Amino acid sequence: MIREALLGIGIAVVIFLAVLGVNILPLLFLAAVAGTLWLLMDRRQVVPAGIRDNQMQHRVSFDEIGGQETAKRELMEALDFLRYRDRIKALGIRPLKGILLTGPPGTGKTLMAKAAATYTDSVFLAASGSEFVEMYVGVGAQRVRDLFRRARALAKRENKDSAIIFIDEIDVVGARRGQHSHQEYDQTLNQLLTEMDGMSTTQSPFILVIAATNRPDMLDPALLRPGRFDRQIRVDLPDKEGRLHILRILTKGKPLAEGVDLEHIARETYGFSGAQLEALVNEAAIIALRQGEQEITQTMFRDAVDKVLMGERTGRKPTEEELQRVAVHELGHAIISELMRPGTVSHITIAPRGKALGFVRQIPEHDRYLYTLEQLQQQINVALAGCLAEELHYGNRSTGAQNDFMQASQLARTIVTCGLSRIGIVDEEHLPESVLDAEVRHILAEQEKITRELLRPYARAIEAFAQRVVEQESIGGDEFRRWLRSVRTDGQAAPALEPACP
Ligand code: ADP
Ligand code: MG
Ligand code: ZN
Repeated sequence: MIREALLGIGIAVVIFLAVLGVNILPLLFLAAVAGTLWLLMDRRQVVPAGIRDNQMQHRVSFDEIGGQETAKRELMEALDFLRYRDRIKALGIRPLKGILLTGPPGTGKTLMAKAAATYTDSVFLAASGSEFVEMYVGVGAQRVRDLFRRARALAKRENKDSAIIFIDEIDVVGARRGQHSHQEYDQTLNQLLTEMDGMSTTQSPFILVIAATNRPDMLDPALLRPGRFDRQIRVDLPDKEGRLHILRILTKGKPLAEGVDLEHIARETYGFSGAQLEALVNEAAIIALRQGEQEITQTMFRDAVDKVLMGERTGRKPTEEELQRVAVHELGHAIISELMRPGTVSHITIAPRGKALGFVRQIPEHDRYLYTLEQLQQQINVALAGCLAEELHYGNRSTGAQNDFMQASQLARTIVTCGLSRIGIVDEEHLPESVLDAEVRHILAEQEKITRELLRPYARAIEAFAQRVVEQESIGGDEFRRWLRSVRTDGQAAPALEPACP
């Protein structure tokens, strides 16, 4: 403020002198030198590096976290302990010292901890379990002490009366004691427990520890005792509505082309975490940049989904013959997928990405948590259809179906262990491996026969369309469905194809 005032007066004086006809050039030069020095001095008003960083971070609010309504609500409720500390104290309620966020990576646990700090107007410090683990005994414990000390100092400096310490990957230090050969972990954990036990309501600043892990089952029971991490909040993968919500948040302010259907993208991204959705939106924007476009289109999102799912396109260059075979194989998957659940093929792509040479992307109807026997069998049919299409078309199979077989076996195992097979209800733990194997093989053999018969009528028509898939590299679901409807399944020669669109 003083600086602005002085600057204003300075300028006024200079103008005044100029009006009087005084030569102001030397003055201007002096002013420039003084200004530069001033700026340099200002830069050096140092705050210790690590601490400053924490405060420079963008403050996250709960509104920026999508699709975690339950977790958010539970967390906010828990945080009211902090917000209304006086009332808690008056009633003599034991304060909440630790909250454990559990769930897969990338679901927003770190975001939640940051939002918690904003919500409670606390300072925020973060550390990761792996940072405490060192070669030298005692270092981890020392770092834990440091962390709590820094939290107190920072709160004081910022004039806040609470601090949130976030410890990511708590399982690295918090696994059951005595399990590792390394004494170091135990000491670190003990120190953390000591710090937490020492905290009390009367203490200012009040410190709340929020920890995150994907393996709550691994944690030392001592961590979960009352007065420590006695509140657990599950942060799961988002469902479709959640994904849509996250996509809306992530694309806010980004130039989306007309016709971009976030709902459709949410449907297609079953199993994606928030972090994967973030990567997807970022990828789509990069594709737009590469293509010199101003807006992000639906196709760019589609390609970005492929990339996030399957990895970057690899430099591998399969031969023409291999490409044709891959196309036949993928069409096998696509045909059965479409016969089982019409409208579910999103697109078929022949482009080496990650480990795959090609793939069919399906649109899940909706997120599923339960499967019937029939649905599991259908999935086995889809998985087996790739190699069976090759067999019907070429008379032999290739090595390209390894992954499909693994998937099919896994599904068959699920049928058996869930008591949906011929042998009825089983106790998974006491089921002899040989019995399980025999039943899995029986299921696969049966489904193989069924799938082959479903595919047979299409075997002749596949060739021409496979050629088109190879030429275009990627074929959308609608074009595929048009072709599928045009195929005569009465064993007659396949009709001529409509000309391929460019
Ligand atoms: P975690 O700590 O569970 O591994 P993070 O909070 O570190 O996950 O998430 C990483 C990034 O992914 C975030 O910075 C954000 O961009 C995005 N993200 C994850 N989950 C969500 C969500 N629920 N809503 C919005 N963005 C999310
Ligand atoms: Mg994280
Ligand atoms: Zn396959």
